[in-house]
Amino acid sequence: MSAPRLVLLGLGGLGCPAALALLEEAHVRRTPMTLVLVDDDRVDRSNLARQTLFTERDVGRLKVEAARDSLGRLCPDSSVELISRAMRFDASTSAELLRGATLLLDGTDSFATRFLANDAALAARVPLVHGAALGWVGQLLSIVPGGPCLRCLFEGPPPPGSVPACAEAGVAGPLCALVGASMAVEAMRLLASEPPLARGALLRWDGLAGTSRTIPIPPDPSCPACRAI
Ligand SMILES: [Zn+2]
Repeated sequence: MSAPRLVLLGLGGLGCPAALALLEEAHVRRTPMTLVLVDDDRVDRSNLARQTLFTERDVGRLKVEAARDSLGRLCPDSSVELISRAMRFDASTSAELLRGATLLLDGTDSFATRFLANDAALAARVPLVHGAALGWVGQLLSIVPGGPCLRCLFEGPPPPGSVPACAEAGVAGPLCALVGASMAVEAMRLLASEPPLARGALLRWDGLAGTSRTIPIPPDPSCPACRAI
């Protein structure tokens, strides 16, 4: 049996800790794995505090290349094969990136990408671990074939300008570390056929209050994404 192939979208505040935690988890559990890193962005000095795989020397480099180098240094004995793809996950690339994938992890900060990941993963019957963070609030949701999805809860992306982006509202670094690491744990649980932390329900943290709650998602019988499968 070939090694599981995980595709990680976004190497920002969530993707960096998620990638590192995946390598550590794979090492501890002795799980061979291929991890495909997908991001077309370059390292920016203003994000270094929460994008923990990068240093000052990486500023201006492609994130996927800097992350691959950093992960190689941090986990030299890892059983994970790293593949860098400097590209966007969009309507023209999603099918190719999902081909042969065992699992998709989405840590991007784009509403459009989140919903595209939801729809494309369902269509390809690839389980998806969704993570998001804004301010001090973070969320985690596992979307598996047969279960409810992001569109059962939100229907679609909010109108442009109605919800502030990370760049405007800011995002707390410690919360990113929590959500990113939780995405990795969730992925490893799915791979091991253990019950996911956030299947059929949105797990939401308030990092400032130190609280978390689980919001059940009733499957929407008219959902165009998950009910059409
Ligand atoms: Zn749905």
